[in-house]
Amino acid sequence: MTLRRIATEEAFATPDQLAAYRLLGESGWRDPDVLFWRNVVAGQFDDIVEKLLDLGEGRIAAMDRHGVDVQLLALTSPGVQLFAPARASEMARASNDLLAQAIARHPGRFAGMATIAPHDPAGAVREMARAKDALGFNAIVVNSHTDGRYLDEEAFWPVLEAAEAMDLPIYIHPRSLPQQAATAYGALQLNGGIWGYAAETGLHAMRLIMSGVLGRFPNLKIVLGHLGEGLPWWLYRLDYMYDLQSRRLPRESNRKPSDYVRQNFWITTSGMNDADALRFCLAKLGTERILWAVDYPYQDAGEAVAFLDAMDLPRADKAAIFGGNAERLFRIPRQESIA
Ligand code: MN
Repeated sequence: MTLRRIATEEAFATPDQLAAYRLLGESGWRDPDVLFWRNVVAGQFDDIVEKLLDLGEGRIAAMDRHGVDVQLLALTSPGVQLFAPARASEMARASNDLLAQAIARHPGRFAGMATIAPHDPAGAVREMARAKDALGFNAIVVNSHTDGRYLDEEAFWPVLEAAEAMDLPIYIHPRSLPQQAATAYGALQLNGGIWGYAAETGLHAMRLIMSGVLGRFPNLKIVLGHLGEGLPWWLYRLDYMYDLQSRRLPRESNRKPSDYVRQNFWITTSGMNDADALRFCLAKLGTERILWAVDYPYQDAGEAVAFLDAMDLPRADKAAIFGGNAERLFRIPRQESIA
């Protein structure tokens, strides 16, 4: 019996989203994500765009080619978070509907992360309820900061409260750093997947930990890609420096930063097809916290399958990382055979 492979950080785009990005690109706005998408929609990455827009046979064929059973899909970053709140919520609903239709057309092959507009908290909470109850989605995606603001800020607490109450994991997906912070990264093209995305998303995770919101919402489930955006590597120093600082700073609780990482976070292998790095994360966080992902179509599914296939791990661990952990965390139904 082959292992069931559920890829947990897979991207799609909608024509409306890309048309809206194109207009932002023409507006002269210097936001790093806007500049990135200006180049994409100008035709620099036509093959990627074609794959992002395909929620049908082409995508299924690519999955079949590499033995990917399920893609857990999210609207590609930065989703609707570039737009004003009301419009962003409207775009979120439209893209969630489009994704729900694709899931319905291909039973068992796709699962969904709901797009929300965090900066419209009331609208976001309504959409989360609709996504879970009416659309059957499995998580929500937040593409890191929104206008330079992060989920620990009180304005976003309704979103965190609802995610906890509805037991919807929040996948914090990278985007570029806010415009001012990005300046130091830009000239050497560091503000992307090479380093800036991890700096931005790791910061977001650390803000959730250090702000104390995970004490307020202790059952929140946070998912990070790219083997945890550097956090697993940093656990010792987080605790060491936190101890040092807490002689002067008020402590939110007697839990250490590493306790929060181990209790509230799950990490995926998206874009990190590195057996040594995965072994390190397994030692630090345990098998049950680690999920497999490709980051299709930005990275290669064949490589993501091959690196984990080739690892010398107990079969049960491999099964958990490839799919079992995703079935549990995201409530993706087990299916013996796909119709
Ligand atoms: Mn991604």
